[in-house]
Amino acid sequence: MKIHLQVFVETENLGKAVNALTDAGITGFYILEYRGISPQDWKGFTINEDPKSAIGLIKDYSTEAVLISSIVDEKKVDAIVELLREALKDERYTVLEVPIRRIIVNYAYQEKPEKKPKAWIIENEVPCFYCGEKAIQRIQIDRKTAKVWCTNCGAARYYLLKGEKPEG
Ligand SMILES: [Zn+2]
Repeated sequence: MKIHLQVFVETENLGKAVNALTDAGITGFYILEYRGISPQDWKGFTINEDPKSAIGLIKDYSTEAVLISSIVDEKKVDAIVELLREALKDERYTVLEVPIRRIIVNYAYQEKPEKKPKAWIIENEVPCFYCGEKAIQRIQIDRKTAKVWCTNCGAARYYLLKGEKPEG
């Protein structure tokens, strides 16, 4: 079974927690920044219901924190949590292990339009097949065709390229 491992830490401990999780072998994670109030701090409060004072109170009493979430194999959870406890032993944190019933991922791969490869142009100074002058012969190679033309007289030849792509 897969487990949704949720680690709540204060923002300043984000690096420490992520490093411990990485050392423990998690392969990916996501992060949510949030403001939270712990049960100890919240005890005894009753929130005034008008929005302004509700928001004001949350701002004044909540602390900035981060939720690091990762999907891990159930078999690995204990080892991960052990490393995390060691790394964060002097810090405040909360870990939730939530069993996952099913994971559905839609990658939605989209076909990218094929980029037209640039033609190669090669120059070679040799006697022209048409005018016989020793002049630069320009060779333009596309994916399937090659054109050779003489820079002296302009005569051109065309070739169709066939065959396998060479290794490398
Ligand atoms: Zn020529």
